[in-house]
Amino acid sequence: MTQAHTNKRFEAAIALGGNVGDVERTFKRATLRLDKHPDITLLRRSDWMQTKAVGGPADQADFLNGAIVVETTLAPGALLRVCQEVETHLGRDRSAEEHWGPRTLDLDLLLYATQSVQQEGLKVPHARLVERRFVLEPLAQIAPDWQIPGTGASVAQCLERLPAECSF
Ligand code: AMP
Repeated sequence: MTQAHTNKRFEAAIALGGNVGDVERTFKRATLRLDKHPDITLLRRSDWMQTKAVGGPADQADFLNGAIVVETTLAPGALLRVCQEVETHLGRDRSAEEHWGPRTLDLDLLLYATQSVQQEGLKVPHARLVERRFVLEPLAQIAPDWQIPGTGASVAQCLERLPAECSF
């Protein structure tokens, strides 16, 4: 179901993560599917980066992480719902998952223009965006100058501010 709120187009940044199955193929299918959506256009994508799992069960497989920037006429909540439909379509079963455990595909809405959003089931900027190197690093490749609301800093500056010992 689509829910275009205006004809106005906004840029949004989305994080991708996964550590089950052929994650590279899953990312390819996910980005294609988002780009095919009538209200979403893929603008840029980062490299996919292999990272160590953070939290969750011990000994789970390394993750692949990345970020994309899209242009959309969808409101933030509608965009997140499309992302969740794509996760489900590509095999994610939330009911069978452990918190921060293995998953085929995780799509998080990181940024939506320069807006701060706080609504049921959705917080933008994403709550853990500025703490996570595995999210900021790919995002800095494709959107270094994007100002993160509430921080007074850009994506590249937030990445620089992460403590050196922060490996996640
Ligand atoms: P996760 O299991 O990490 O994908 O967390 C998904 C949950 O976080 C869902 O219940 C979402 O409604 C909620 N959520 C809140 N803000 C966001 C966001 N910016 N992007 C994705 N999920 C979000």
